[in-house]
Amino acid sequence: MSELNLNETRFDTQAIHAGYRRDSDYGALATPIYQTSTFTFPSADYAMKVFSGEIPGYDYTRAGNPTVRVFEEKIAQLEGGEDAVATSSGMGAISSALLGLFQMGDHIVCGSTVYGCTDVVMREILPSLGITATFVDTGDLAAVEAAIQPNTKAIYFETPANPTMQVTDIAAVSALKQSHPGLRVIVDNTFAPPPVQRPLSLGADVVVHSVTKYINGHGDVIGGVVVGTKGDIAQVRSRAMGKICGTPLTPFSAYLIIRGMKTLGLRVRRHCENALALAQYLETCPEVEKVYYPGLPSMGKDYEIARRQMNGLYSGIFSFVLKEGTHGLSAFDAAKKLMDNLKIPAIAVSLGDPDTLIQHPASMTHVKVPKQVREQVGITDGMLRFSVGLEDVEDLKADFAQAFARL
Ligand SMILES: *Cc1c(COP(=O)(O)O)cnc(C)c1O
Repeated sequence: MSELNLNETRFDTQAIHAGYRRDSDYGALATPIYQTSTFTFPSADYAMKVFSGEIPGYDYTRAGNPTVRVFEEKIAQLEGGEDAVATSSGMGAISSALLGLFQMGDHIVCGSTVYGCTDVVMREILPSLGITATFVDTGDLAAVEAAIQPNTKAIYFETPANPTMQVTDIAAVSALKQSHPGLRVIVDNTFAPPPVQRPLSLGADVVVHSVTKYINGHGDVIGGVVVGTKGDIAQVRSRAMGKICGTPLTPFSAYLIIRGMKTLGLRVRRHCENALALAQYLETCPEVEKVYYPGLPSMGKDYEIARRQMNGLYSGIFSFVLKEGTHGLSAFDAAKKLMDNLKIPAIAVSLGDPDTLIQHPASMTHVKVPKQVREQVGITDGMLRFSVGLEDVEDLKADFAQAFARL
C-alpha cells in the first residue's frame, strides 16, 4: 500500500482513514483497544526520553492513550483543526477548555441560550474562580460587540442553539476579533457536527463537542472533545484535562466512537434529510403553531445565515410549538399527550442517536426554570424538541398523523 495524503481526500474518506495507524504487531484493521492505565519502558534511559518529551510515547492514560489518540486525530482532521483533546464527556470538554484557556480576571461573552450545565459553569463555577461572563443574544452582533470589555477573552456560543434552534453567524462574530485582538471565538458544535458545519473554517478558534451525540452517534457512549490550534490544545490538555479536571476519555469509549465515526457522513446526512422532511410536514399540520428548524425559509434571518454556514444540511434536531387550545387542550397538556401518543420516538433527552428522541423542555429539561425565565428565551409550554433518528421518514410522518388524531 502507498501512503494516502488525507488533505487531498474528501469528508467520507477522511472519516474512515484519518488518525488510522496500521497495527505494527499483527496488522489489525480495527483500532485495538489499549485498555491500560500505565505504560512500561524497555529501559531507564528510554523512560527518561519519553518523560522529557525527547521521543514520542505514552506514560499514563489520563495524559494520553493510543486508542484515544486515533479519535483525536480523526476529529481534528474532520473539523479542520491542528489538534484535539478528548474528554470523558461534553461537559468535561467545555470545562477543560474554559479552565485551560482562561484565568482570574478574564471575562467571557456567552450566548444567552446555552446547554444547561454550561450555563451553570458560566453563571456559578467560573465567577467563583474570578472569571466572569456576560450573557447576550449572539444573533445580535451589535449586542455582542457592546458586551466586549477590555478584559474579554472569549465569545462562546452554540449554533444552532438548544432548544430554540437560533442561529449565530460564526463568520460575523469571528470578524469582531479584528477590532478586539486577543479574543478567542469558541463554538459548541454539538448540534451541527461536520459535514454540516465547520466553525474553524469560518474563523472560530476553538470547537467543543459533546461526542455523546452525533459524533459517536449510537447512544452508547458519553464523551467530549476540544479542537483547536496546537498551542491551545496543549494548554487545555496539560493545564485542565490532564490535571485539574482529570477527565480523560476511556480507551473503550474511544474505540466505540472511532467505529461510529466511520459512518458519520452517511448518518448525519440522513438525520438532516429526515429532519427537513419532517419539519416541512409539521409546518402543514393544523395543531402546530411554529416549527423552529434552520432549514425552513420561515426562520427568516436564521435561515439566511444557516444557508451560508451549514453546507446545505441543517442539523437533525428541530423544535416545534403546539397551539394553545388545540383539541381543547392547553399547549402544555397537548405536548405531553402528543409524546404519549407517539409510537416511534422515545421520550428521552440527548440527541443524535439512530433512534428518534422527543422531549418536552417545559416539563423535563427546563422544569425547574421559572416559566417567566424560560419564556424569555422562547421555551414555551407547548414546545417539543425532536432529535430525528434514522428510521424511515414516512413511518415518522405516519406516526405523527396518528398521534395528532388521538390528541
Ligand atoms: C449534551 C450537550 C452537552 C454536554 O455533553 P455531555 O456529553 O452530556 O457532557 C453540551 N452541549 C450541548 C449542545 C449538548 O447537547
